[in-house]
Amino acid sequence: MTEKYAVVVVGGGAAGLSAALVLGRARHRTLVVDAGEPRNAPAAHMQGYLTRDGMPPAEFLALGREEIARYGVELVRDRVVDVARSEEFTVVLAGGRTVQARRLVVATGLKDELPAVAGVAERFGRDVLHCPFCHGWEVRDQPFGVLASSPASVHQALMVSQWSKDVRFFLHTVAEEELPDEDLRRLAAAGVEVVPSEVAGLAVEDDRLTGIRLADGTEHARSVLFLAPRAVPQTGLLEGLGAELHDTPFGAYPVVDATGLTSVPGVWAAGNAIGFAEQVVHAASGGYRAASAIVGDLLMTDLDAAAQV
Ligand SMILES: Cc1cc2nc3c(=O)[nH]c(=O)nc-3n(C[C@H](O)[C@H](O)[C@H](O)COP(=O)(O)OP(=O)(O)OC[C@H]3O[C@@H](n4cnc5c(N)ncnc54)[C@H](O)[C@@H]3O)c2cc1C
Repeated sequence: MTEKYAVVVVGGGAAGLSAALVLGRARHRTLVVDAGEPRNAPAAHMQGYLTRDGMPPAEFLALGREEIARYGVELVRDRVVDVARSEEFTVVLAGGRTVQARRLVVATGLKDELPAVAGVAERFGRDVLHCPFCHGWEVRDQPFGVLASSPASVHQALMVSQWSKDVRFFLHTVAEEELPDEDLRRLAAAGVEVVPSEVAGLAVEDDRLTGIRLADGTEHARSVLFLAPRAVPQTGLLEGLGAELHDTPFGAYPVVDATGLTSVPGVWAAGNAIGFAEQVVHAASGGYRAASAIVGDLLMTDLDAAAQV
C-alpha cells in the first residue's frame, strides 16, 4: 500500500526544514525527502543569520533535522524523481519508494554553475567567492579580484568595494566598450581598477589563492576572487507539474504568491527554488510562510468537505 502523508517536502535545506518544523508542530504527517546537496556546502561557515552567524552550514542543518524529528516529521535521504497530480500527489523517489501527499512543498534550491576557469571550482566558497554578504567581512581589506562574466558584473565589482579598497575588475571575455559610461564613472569613483585581459587561471600557494594569471602572461597578486556563477534553478519537478515560470536575469523561477503558492493548486515553493537572492534566513522564512498557508488550506478543505456531508 502506498503511504499517505499530508505533506511531502522536497528538499531538506533551510527552506524545507523550516516548512517541515511548522507542519510537524501543526500535527500534520510530513515527509521530507532530501538529496543532501545544499547549495552552501562548499562554505565552512554560514554568516548573516541572526543568532547563528558563523555556524557551519552542516551543523545548522543537523540541528534543523533534530528539531523536526521532535514533532514526528520523517526525513529520508533520497531524491524525488517524479510527481504526478490527480486528487492527491503521487511522489516517486529514486530509491523506488512511492508516496501520496495532499500538498507539496518544493524546496529544491538551485545549482551554481561556475565559469570555466581552471582552479575555480576547487576553491569556490573558500577564496573564490560569489557573495560579499556571505563572506565579505571575513576577507575585508584584502586584495580582491572580480571576474567579469558579463557587463552586469560591474555591479559585483562595485558592491565588493564596500569591503576592500583594493579591487581589480578583470574583464576576461567582456570588451571594455560594452561597459556604459555611467558604469565606468562609478568604477573610477569606487577606485576599482579595470583590467582588460582574459583570465587564464589562478596562482595558488600552500592551498591559498595568491594571484590571478592572465592570458597575456602577467599575474596580479590577489588573495580573493569574486565571480558570479550561473544560477541553475532546480525547477524540473515544478515544470513537470505545469507550473508557470517567469524569467529573471538569474534564470526562470516559478510564479508564486506571497505565501509561495505556485500556479499549481496544492504546490508551494520556498527558498532558492523561488529565486536566486534567497539567503538562508529568507529560505527559512519562506518555508515557514508556505507551511502556515498549507495548514490553513488543509483545514479549510477538510471543513468544507465536512460541511457538505
Ligand atoms: C558558497 C556559498 C556560501 C553561502 N554562504 C551563505 C551565507 O553565509 N549566508 C547565507 O545566508 N547564505 C549563504 N549562501 C546561500 C545559501 O546557500 C542559500 O541561501 C540556501 O542554501 C538556500 O536554502 P534552500 O533550502 O532554498 O536550498 P538548499 O540549501 O540548496 O537545499 C536544497 C536541498 O534540496 C535538495 N534537493 C534538490 N532537488 C531535490 C530532489 N529532487 N529531491 C530531493 N531533494 C532535492 C538538495 O540536495 C538540497 O539538500 C551561500 C551559498 C553558497 C554557494
